[in-house]
Amino acid sequence: MYTDGGPDHRSTFWSVQLACILIFISLDLDMLVTARTAPMASYANPAERIMSLLNLALQNVALERPDMIEDYERKMKRNGSMTKVRNIGEKEPDFKTALLQSTKHVISKLDDRFSRLKWKDRNVNMHESANIDDIEDIGHLLSILDHLDEGLSIEKLKTKKDIEKFKCLKNFIDLHTRERQYTYQIKKCGNCAYCTINPPRLSQELFDNLHWLPDPVPVQKDSDEYKSFDDVYGEETDDSGRPSLVSKNVPTSADLGHKGGFVAARARSFIICRECGKRRVVYSGKRLTIDQMRLIERVQEEFIFTCGAPLFPDGVMKETVYVREGQSCNSEMETTYYSDVSGLNTPVCFFCGDTEVITNQEIQNLKQEYGIVRPICDTCFQGGKRPAVRNALKTNKKKR
Ligand SMILES: [Zn+2]
Ligand SMILES: [Zn+2]
Ligand SMILES: [Zn+2]
Repeated sequence: MYTDGGPDHRSTFWSVQLACILIFISLDLDMLVTARTAPMASYANPAERIMSLLNLALQNVALERPDMIEDYERKMKRNGSMTKVRNIGEKEPDFKTALLQSTKHVISKLDDRFSRLKWKDRNVNMHESANIDDIEDIGHLLSILDHLDEGLSIEKLKTKKDIEKFKCLKNFIDLHTRERQYTYQIKKCGNCAYCTINPPRLSQELFDNLHWLPDPVPVQKDSDEYKSFDDVYGEETDDSGRPSLVSKNVPTSADLGHKGGFVAARARSFIICRECGKRRVVYSGKRLTIDQMRLIERVQEEFIFTCGAPLFPDGVMKETVYVREGQSCNSEMETTYYSDVSGLNTPVCFFCGDTEVITNQEIQNLKQEYGIVRPICDTCFQGGKRPAVRNALKTNKKKR
């Protein structure tokens, strides 16, 4: 399964992984490989080529839905993002029904237009989206894994941390899945309880030669040439060679255009990278207007932003509201995040952006010695990193 990087199929999301596990079980697959294209690289995904055809059907068509009652339309206007609209629907079932009714017309219009297209001599088919009943049915399949009677159910698996509560699921995931930045794979192991009840459907010989999809492995360290698939298939690999991890922080021409623009006084807000989850500072010469903040919120909601990309690739705000583009997901936090003129920024780990920062005796001691001690999370601290520091207090005193 090869998708672009949109949030509904972003394979690092727990909801997407859980859906993949359920597909794996419901279809009794031997192996499921999901991969997504790197940001801004959807054009390399063959499935996306259908877009040029679909665009033909969207020529000269007005996709306007009929109005709902005034109160509902006002709510739609006030809540610009999909999540907010969904939340209203949760609270007010009548609103949800009205909105579904109102969009029905648009959907059937699209169905009609698309189904008149042909792709390589075959008709284009628009499938109905899964309804609540379908989703619940497939969710019940999880109970297959619950051989320890732990009460495993989809409602109890809101976040990835919830896996820890269910040994049966944890065990299944450890034995059968492999997670990377751009791939998520599930494969029968061939010798656990699940695989005994659902043995591989491939012949033993084929199954024995079925390996994980390997990660890209550079020919040499720091080289941008990669080993061929055949050379690495069946080898143990990791994704440490992926370009977004090794790219350097070089200012782009846009960065150079914002000369003097990346200072604390201009740090107005932040946006979270959809890849690494780090908060990247949004700069502007003037304080942000409500409309500007709404637009940033929208970019955030739609998961468009990644480190290294412009905040607004075009439009009126391109020059006035911006982020530093010469950085990658591997770059540390910007120090301007911590200056925080707006007073809104919670402390996050300087290295990874995690919001759960720690303090301990060693960090306390550093605070005695330095004017600035950047926050750090437990994982980075345990991994051997030490807080970034500035302005040594003792040496300053000595100089005086
Ligand atoms: Zn197994
Ligand atoms: Zn990032
Ligand atoms: Zn960290």
